[in-house]
Amino acid sequence: VAKEQGGTYHYFTRMLMEQNIERSNLLNALYVAIERDELDVEYQPKVDYRQNKIVGVEALLRWNHPEWGNIAPDRFIPIAEETGMILKLGDWILKQAATQQKLWQDNGFTITMAVNFSMRQIQHPRLVETVQSILEETGMDPSNLEIELTEHTLIQSKHVAKLYDLKNLGLSLSLDDFGTGYCSLRYIKDFPIDTIKIDRSFVENMTHEPHIMALNSTIIYLAKQLNYDVIAEGVETKEQIDHLMDGGCHLMQGYFFSKPVSSNELFVLLKNGLTK
Ligand code: C2E
Ligand code: CA
Ligand code: CA
Ligand code: CA
Repeated sequence: VAKEQGGTYHYFTRMLMEQNIERSNLLNALYVAIERDELDVEYQPKVDYRQNKIVGVEALLRWNHPEWGNIAPDRFIPIAEETGMILKLGDWILKQAATQQKLWQDNGFTITMAVNFSMRQIQHPRLVETVQSILEETGMDPSNLEIELTEHTLIQSKHVAKLYDLKNLGLSLSLDDFGTGYCSLRYIKDFPIDTIKIDRSFVENMTHEPHIMALNSTIIYLAKQLNYDVIAEGVETKEQIDHLMDGGCHLMQGYFFSKPVSSNELFVLLKNGLTK
């Protein structure tokens, strides 16, 4: 047993060291990523299945490092959040996304643009001013902007009033990854949320597990009763689509329709429509 414990101990110190080295390397590289033009934005369609039409997109951050290649947001966003770098990244992606939305708009395609905001951004004292100035600078109509927040961010943001101020800019708020946290719909009612985004994990298990199917239908039903829009994320199969439609959820996002793509590819999708 003692030997095993020793082994485990060494294993963990090694893991920790590798993690630390990687962490500081990543962070240093991230500091210069914007200036070195290594960041990009991809857009994933949000589809109204009744019309088989793209009604919006979600902007997702991409980082392509010259040596390390693509680094997944799940790896660098948490580090950016811890260190405060997310504020700079958040402003950057919002500006890109707003500029892009305006361009599509000017080309005759009015779609909503969703941007993910982290807790640090919501907590920042100049949140509202920052968003407002980016909207003004880019000329994007605020009614086309949607900010995606997680339940965690919602609880931590504490200042409900601030979210109302944000909403007063004319944009909408959407609750991401719904079902993975501890929020009840009753609790959420205190916040000015417009849309509930059902987490991929529910959609994934939907067609296999009857109790999850029942839970989903109940969430969709309750959310609608409370006047929320409902969108399902991570939709990959026709079977899932059928279940969602049966449950009354017609807004969807997922690989079934499209992966996140470049702005040029998305423009092609807007012009040609979805194939099905
Ligand atoms: P999220 O906001 O929940 O975004 C959805 C993630 O699921 C994206 O991963 C997307 O590519 C992926 N996805 C979409 N459809 C499907 C599907 O059908 N199947 C599967 N398996 N996956 C699907 P991605 O781009 O790697 O982003 C991961 C997370 O990183 C995001 O989760 C979000 O929390 C965070 N993130 C990305 N960009 C930003 C950003 O600009 N700001 C902030 N604060 N967070 C971001
Ligand atoms: Ca999201
Ligand atoms: Ca999500
Ligand atoms: Ca997620």
